[in-house]
Amino acid sequence: MTGQDAILLDLTIPADGHWGHVLRQGQTLRIVDLEGRQAVDFLCYNALDPTERYNAADTMKYAGTIFLTAGHGIYSDMGRRLFTIVADTCGRHDTIGGCCSAESNWVRYGVDGTPSCRQNFLKALAPFGLGKRDVVANLNWFMNVPVGPDGTMGIVDGLSEPGDYVELRAEMDVLAVLSNCPQTRNPCNGFNPTPIRVIVRG
Ligand SMILES: [Zn+2]
Repeated sequence: MTGQDAILLDLTIPADGHWGHVLRQGQTLRIVDLEGRQAVDFLCYNALDPTERYNAADTMKYAGTIFLTAGHGIYSDMGRRLFTIVADTCGRHDTIGGCCSAESNWVRYGVDGTPSCRQNFLKALAPFGLGKRDVVANLNWFMNVPVGPDGTMGIVDGLSEPGDYVELRAEMDVLAVLSNCPQTRNPCNGFNPTPIRVIVRG
């Protein structure tokens, strides 16, 4: 369906990079994990009224699972689809782990002043007039956060291979922002953050 659509944007985002873009309804966003095992932290908002934004809990409830894949919707806090996942060659993404921050790296690892997805989100949101109040629980593409039968939560090696991708179709005009995660202290990026590619078609 999207194969013949024009490529509107095609760029590589380096490790620790950030990106934000408004997609019009019907446009698609493909996020490619170029080298594999690279977490991509992601948030999205109604572009016309960003007080309506991604709601992790409702998205999980509607999907009936914490593991989103092709066919699932990415929902706002107003019960509307921001995106539909139309393709997913990886099959394992995270909805509960949230983003890394310098502060949480201090709490967890005792290191100060690290680069982080929270900082990248703030950089990506700033041109759109958004800031700290707008950073909510986020999605992590290609991040593997299994939950054991006893409730144990882990952050383990991602399952994405080089070239794996997710493709999202915008169901309204959507502001999408992402951070190409710089974390080096757990396996979410294979301890080696690498570039990703984003392609917008429409
Ligand atoms: Zn991160």
